[in-house]
Amino acid sequence: MTENELRDWICRHGESLYARGLAHGSSGNISARLDDGILITPTNSCLGRLDPARISKVAHDGRVLAGDPPSKEAFLHLAMYGERASARAIVHLHSTHCVAVSCLCHADVDDVLPPITAYYVMRIRKLPLIEYYAPGDRALAEAVRAKAKAHNAVLLANHGPVVAGKSLDDAVYNAEELEETAKLFLLLNGRSTRFLDRAQIVDLEARFPS
Ligand code: ZN
Repeated sequence: MTENELRDWICRHGESLYARGLAHGSSGNISARLDDGILITPTNSCLGRLDPARISKVAHDGRVLAGDPPSKEAFLHLAMYGERASARAIVHLHSTHCVAVSCLCHADVDDVLPPITAYYVMRIRKLPLIEYYAPGDRALAEAVRAKAKAHNAVLLANHGPVVAGKSLDDAVYNAEELEETAKLFLLLNGRSTRFLDRAQIVDLEARFPS
């Protein structure tokens, strides 16, 4: 995709995520990797009403190259791109069910959602929880960096998910699958549930290598 095509697709995905309630107000941000930096949605912008010409362009070291001032969470995206060479796009949402899961007490913070469906395992595999930091705290970027090499998605405690993908579409689909899995997890809470077992997960990993 050219830079202009990516700008258009960021806006179209933003509009769709907002229309379906996966983003509200000015929450959430979307980025895509370029050769000389990243495109990212501007600070205080609503994903439902983005303007392709005003999307921010930021160098890999954080310098703003063009467009409106970038999201204050751009450093989260840069941390994840820095650790994941395969990441071509990243979606960060404050989507309701994921945020609810991020507020629960978890026995194993390295894997906070069970393998409910094959699609969740194929897209996300394991979801680690990153401890709480105040918005804008740069220590959060370091915490994300520590987990990003081994995971294409992390969940920020009392905040929301940061999800990478091999393309912009892939990152959006990963974020959507994660939100649906969080919703299922909450729906199933308290019921006797059969999750995928270890052999079924090993079989999926062999069939669909990441
Ligand atoms: Zn956020």
